[in-house]
Amino acid sequence: MNDKPTLRASWPQSASRPMVSPLQPSVVYTSKDPDALDAAYDGTAPGFTYAREGHPNASVLAGLIDRMEGTDGGIVTGSGMAAVSLAVLSTVNAGDHVIGADQLYGRSLRLMTEELPRMGVQTSLVDPTDLSSVEAALRENTKLILIETVSNPTLRIPDVEGIIRLSKYHGCLVAVDNTFATPRGFQPLLRGADIVIHSVTKLLAGHSDATLGYTASTNPALNLRMDGLAATLGLTASPFDCWLAERGLYSFDLRYERAIGNARKLADALSDLPGVTRVLYPTRADHPDHNRVSSLLGGEGGHMASFEIEGGRDAANAFVRAAPNLNFAPTLGDISTTISHPPSSSHRAMTEEQRLALGITEGFFRVSVGCEPLDSLIDTFEAAINAVQR
Ligand code: PLP
Repeated sequence: MNDKPTLRASWPQSASRPMVSPLQPSVVYTSKDPDALDAAYDGTAPGFTYAREGHPNASVLAGLIDRMEGTDGGIVTGSGMAAVSLAVLSTVNAGDHVIGADQLYGRSLRLMTEELPRMGVQTSLVDPTDLSSVEAALRENTKLILIETVSNPTLRIPDVEGIIRLSKYHGCLVAVDNTFATPRGFQPLLRGADIVIHSVTKLLAGHSDATLGYTASTNPALNLRMDGLAATLGLTASPFDCWLAERGLYSFDLRYERAIGNARKLADALSDLPGVTRVLYPTRADHPDHNRVSSLLGGEGGHMASFEIEGGRDAANAFVRAAPNLNFAPTLGDISTTISHPPSSSHRAMTEEQRLALGITEGFFRVSVGCEPLDSLIDTFEAAINAVQR
């Protein structure tokens, strides 16, 4: 019987506890008195006040990713781009200079080239695989260097160690978007980076049903600043997405191991097929940065592979039509394999000349390799590529 003078029901008493984290969609939290509310806002007592400021499902998820990245105090955000924006906007002011990798994710590039300059922040884009160009771009007011551990879609691996060394000498921060590598491939904060960023939407959550991000710093004061700014700008995440991602994370290791094993073998199989003119996979001897794989990615090439077929856009259309079992979708990290065609999706805003400078031709595909049985995966690619040849 509910004897509270409210429309809200009471939660049943139970001597047992659920094994699975409860999903807590409540927007608001009640407190026993103003002192308790003050303490919750101050952080001197544990608890929650208002979901945009934080909620249990975000805390649970942040704690799990913190553990994977070897840190604590990380912040879960409503998307990967919210995490990128939060990391950048928490650290730079008008008049500062930011260096970004020239192959950052498309929206991160737009942040660099369109939004930050509008706010009075100077930006430069450089090739992060070439330490001398990063060094040459440094200015007295450089505050932050933003790189990705593995670039999209050509899977280049920056000189992360060199960039971190350079930043310490210069006195600026390094933020690493670790989405492609995942914490199993690389742990930026344990290797001297100041900030790590993830699009949790991808392999961490792993099922294409939650849009989320994460960022953490080694500096507790910066974590608090990011936490506050996320609430001010409204970058925080929905409880349901956090709950889904928590569930997804429990199978992350299994999915990761299966996907990277598949990716390595698929890359080798693709390189043997007629009509395939190029295969990019970090552990292959013909990958331009394969010498960084053992020091930066623990010797593993990850779950992404890219390849090029001859015949330009017509062949690209024919390949996708001949492979209806492959999900042609501009995302990555799903449990199943997805293929994307950068010239018509992630890199469509570039001119053809700019794409060609990066090696992205009309016959270029990026594959996010999933957990399917390997033989059937290889057969599917082989059949579609053979169909294009005919
Ligand atoms: N960073 C990288 C490397 C990405 O690939 C993406 C999206 O593909 C993002 C950030 C943005 O993530 P989200 O789509 O979750 O905002």
